[in-house]
Amino acid sequence: MYLCRTFKNQFTSQKAPSSLKNTFQAGILLWWLIRYVTYQKKTVLGGLMKKLKRQDLFCTKCYLNGEWADAADKSTLNVDNPATGEILGTVPNCKTKETKKVIDDAHTAFKIWKKLTPKERGAYLVKWYNLIEENKEDLARILTLEQGKPIAESLGEIALGNSYMTWFAEEGKRAYGQTIPAPRPGIRPITYQKPVGVVFAITPWNFPISLVLRKIAPALAAGCTIVVKPAGITPFSAIALFKLAEEAGIPKGVVNIITGNAKVIGEEVCTNPKVRKISFTGSTPVGKAIMAKATCTMKRFSMELGGNAPFVMFDDANMDHAINCAIGSKFRNAGQTCVSTNRFIIQKGICDKFIATYKEQFPSLVVAEGTDPSSIIGPLVNQEALDNIESLVADAVAKGAKIVLGGKKHALGGLFFEPTLILGMTKEMRIYKEEIFGPIAAIMTFETEEEAIELANDTEFGLASYLMTTDLGRAWRVAESLEYGLVGINDAGLALCEAPFGGVKESGMGKEGAHEGLLDYMETRYALMGGIGA
Ligand code: ADP
Repeated sequence: MYLCRTFKNQFTSQKAPSSLKNTFQAGILLWWLIRYVTYQKKTVLGGLMKKLKRQDLFCTKCYLNGEWADAADKSTLNVDNPATGEILGTVPNCKTKETKKVIDDAHTAFKIWKKLTPKERGAYLVKWYNLIEENKEDLARILTLEQGKPIAESLGEIALGNSYMTWFAEEGKRAYGQTIPAPRPGIRPITYQKPVGVVFAITPWNFPISLVLRKIAPALAAGCTIVVKPAGITPFSAIALFKLAEEAGIPKGVVNIITGNAKVIGEEVCTNPKVRKISFTGSTPVGKAIMAKATCTMKRFSMELGGNAPFVMFDDANMDHAINCAIGSKFRNAGQTCVSTNRFIIQKGICDKFIATYKEQFPSLVVAEGTDPSSIIGPLVNQEALDNIESLVADAVAKGAKIVLGGKKHALGGLFFEPTLILGMTKEMRIYKEEIFGPIAAIMTFETEEEAIELANDTEFGLASYLMTTDLGRAWRVAESLEYGLVGINDAGLALCEAPFGGVKESGMGKEGAHEGLLDYMETRYALMGGIGA
């Protein structure tokens, strides 16, 4: 009513206004319009979140030292639903002051947490794991609403991320040191593993739950405390995890989540000496910038950066395996993963058959909102992502590529893009050189094994690669020649809590998962015990 009256007053003023007054009134009108539209969007989305079994899991605050907090200056940032463009809610826009304080608090908590036994720390992880498992449907809904991926994929992501919790709960007990054979009488050189200290984790939007858990689980198991900064566009599913951390009774200051301006928070994280390790997943340029900025405090880094995955298929490959892998590795999360196939490199003799069989699968790739049970491909995450893949397609076509399927925005509009098949990729095209991050499968051919290896390695990236062959000797030879941290031989499901996930070259450093993943949060110390006799 008030809004209506205000509008009415604006239009029915009887006095002859001066031009200054006119401008002022127009300004007020515009302000009310923006507020009105924003209000409407919030109301619509509030309804979607109301479908949660536990309303409290949709939380719009940070968890800092065991308290739910706003930004000191109360400012906030909007978070959208990429499927509709509507505003889901806001998160605190924290800055330097809050970042510094939470790092101090995590540092205080570290003094106690590191003294717990691995079994005690593991018990907290298991409690948290159980709560995540109990609430996975709500978590999946929040994840899908803010990120866009189909609900089934969100559930898969949660199961994968949570598997790291129980695995590291056990592995923390196996942070063994060594006793080194003495090179002279009367001494015993020994090593032991100690937690590095406060960890700051910076995570991206494409796996907002699993990449958070993949960092928290080994950090806590090792005896570190942690502060997480999720991606600004997908913070709510990560915040929901911390609601469950509180319920699991994890002591205050041990796990924290802060949202806000990435650059401002990043500046403090990089220069603060109390942060002993930065665990980052994101783009190569931002990873490099963080490392450069943080050299002044000599921290440790885990850097899981960009990729340009080749999918090398030989004539002798099993077609069913290859097609399954070609679908999974390309279209999971609408192609927005760092391990997505970027370049299909197919041997000449089998290429036509591969294309024909692959094409048959495209009608089953249903494009729809992630909350629709039939959805296989959701929207892209934002306009920037959509613009980028449109320009990649235009560049490929201009350089002679042929679009066989898709190639444009989907009829649904918004951020939806058609699953796309492109033939005739060449080295000159941007789709060959850059990370695509969209549902575009681009194909080129090769003739010899040497040529395939050369093409596959022709990139500055070195994260994931895929190799399809049934020849055992070739599988060994080519896998070992691929300059990648990960090689999927006749399989595309590379992320496992039991295995060391991580890239080489400009795809980064460090491992997530496996025993190496635990050691990444620990430092080896050495003591020499002397005077013990011969
Ligand atoms: P993506 O392309 O996946 O969004 P980014 O590298 O841009 O990858 O972002 C990954 C994470 O890094 C996000 O949480 C983002 O907010 C954060 N980030 C971006 N720029 C900076 C920065 N200068 N310092 C610290 N964190 C940053």
